[in-house]
Amino acid sequence: MLCDTHTHSKYSFDGAESIEDMCLAAIEKGVSVLTITDHSEAMEQVPYNDIERARILGAKEEVEAARIKFAGKIDLLFGCELGQPHMNPEYAKKVLEEFEFDYILGSLHFFKGNVDLYDVKYTPENVDFYIKTYFAETKEMIEHGKFHTLGHLDYIMRRFKDCYSGLPTYKGYEDTVEEILQMLVDRDMGLEINTSGLRKWMGELGMEVWVLEMYRKLGGKYITIGSDAHAKQDIGAGFDNACKLIKTAGFSEFTYFKNSEPIKVSI
Ligand SMILES: [Zn+2]
Ligand SMILES: [Zn+2]
Repeated sequence: MLCDTHTHSKYSFDGAESIEDMCLAAIEKGVSVLTITDHSEAMEQVPYNDIERARILGAKEEVEAARIKFAGKIDLLFGCELGQPHMNPEYAKKVLEEFEFDYILGSLHFFKGNVDLYDVKYTPENVDFYIKTYFAETKEMIEHGKFHTLGHLDYIMRRFKDCYSGLPTYKGYEDTVEEILQMLVDRDMGLEINTSGLRKWMGELGMEVWVLEMYRKLGGKYITIGSDAHAKQDIGAGFDNACKLIKTAGFSEFTYFKNSEPIKVSI
């Protein structure tokens, strides 16, 4: 069963597709469960406002209309990729109070001071500093909570491709990775395999098998698979690679969330 838990529509600042078009593309690819997870970025000192409210409401209404239109063909779920909720707890609280999401993916896109991870100039000399900063922020985010699954743990590594001769890895940071995974397990949170690395990075999934194995050994139960598609042709991309990786790590199931409840699917 093909299931994509991380996709963006035109209701994300970096997306362009209508939710109806996304459903059509997903159905064509044989996707059974599609979760729309448009961005909602909690930024320091930036209050939740009417523009943000209208944007999320637009996505919600389009999801509801598409659910009726494609009933019986696809299970369309309303999710949110909530960026760094710990950096603006008031913002996160309001979004989550106003909207009932099936699924909330917690992702770190910004360092403190609203510095976009994407815009930092990484060099071989500063990579260690930024990995440690990324991990420290991620721990704060998990501590704060308010999401089901940690999104793309490998995100910062994707920015490092110019700093390494081989594939970037979190080897050397095993202790900190273990602390992060233990925090997820203690809070019954999931871990995402984000397949966009296959398309944007080096033709590899950024998630390393030893990280998944560690999560499993610590008692982790929920692995989600998300394409992070910003274009409809990428919906469901890399799903088979992700399933293979999950199996290699010793899991026999992946998970998606509906009405905030985990649903496990055998592979
Ligand atoms: Zn993201
Ligand atoms: Zn995303």
